[in-house]
Amino acid sequence: MSATTPGLVCGHHHLYSALARGMPAPPATPTHFGEILEQVWWRLDAALDLDMLRASARLGAVEALMCGTTAIIDHHESPNAIEGSLDVIADACAEVGVRVVCAYGVTDRHGPDGARLGLAENERFLRAGGRGLVGVHAAFTCSDETLEAAAGLATDLGVGVHIHVAEGPEDASAGQRLEHLAAGSWLLVHCVGLDRDLPGTIAHNPRSNMNNSVGYAAPARRPNPVVLGTDGIGADMLEEFRLAYVAHRADDVLASPDPAWSWLEAGWSLVPEARTDTVTWNYDHVDSAWHVAFTPGIRALQVESAEGEVLLADGLPTRVDLAEVRAHAAEQAARLHARL
Ligand SMILES: [Zn+2]
Repeated sequence: MSATTPGLVCGHHHLYSALARGMPAPPATPTHFGEILEQVWWRLDAALDLDMLRASARLGAVEALMCGTTAIIDHHESPNAIEGSLDVIADACAEVGVRVVCAYGVTDRHGPDGARLGLAENERFLRAGGRGLVGVHAAFTCSDETLEAAAGLATDLGVGVHIHVAEGPEDASAGQRLEHLAAGSWLLVHCVGLDRDLPGTIAHNPRSNMNNSVGYAAPARRPNPVVLGTDGIGADMLEEFRLAYVAHRADDVLASPDPAWSWLEAGWSLVPEARTDTVTWNYDHVDSAWHVAFTPGIRALQVESAEGEVLLADGLPTRVDLAEVRAHAAEQAARLHARL
């Protein structure tokens, strides 16, 4: 029985999407995953500038800390504000006190220049000493040449590739197209419709998959290590664990919370230092998968970093003023929504 855990890890996030809440409805209601991308996320990311991104990342980082999440594996796209975008995210997280592993999602959606600028942002950030992976949006929005360039850059820099894989039917050929490129250092996000095994860690995002109606990813049936991500819908990892468990259970009545708990814990393989942070919760059995699975609403009271700094006290961030972060986000969200 314990009321403390190490810091939790969000294995796949999009800090740029924190200002999406309350955005205007798209011109037409999307009827499947591909239309959700086109009409919601690809309109939103195209409208972002670096001021909006900073506000979004600060809000997302604060919300993560308030959920006991001390490390975020982020996947970013802002096609009209690429250069410097990973620094904005890294700086926002550092300001709040959350660890972040950045990646810029390279894509050919905006022509060859867009892909080139995306690759360059990954390279610039990593060569300058930034902590990250080489990001790729997904195989279905990239040419073979772009996929090979991203994989080659990752190999050159000694890091993995962070890529959405077979999230929906649009990306059904991802397995075949990535088979000769993928490596154990890759972070493979979703893998709902993946038709073969690829090397790498799978980031399972149960809430996002349900929200996009893409089906169940069944990560327990894969041989890969599995971590949990939110895909941009906050960073409450105990809640994502509960959803991972109940989605597993909906697929298999014999499922116990243990596999989903192991996916939550596997996040420490991606950011080992998070394991040296300490989170104190308002619940005495937070180290038990069976307790947490059936106890919604557990809150983080305090977060202390490995270095002994209290980053969250009485549930509130200590380095930044929550009201100011929210006001900044609201001001930038109004600019963003006006553009949409
Ligand atoms: Zn994603």
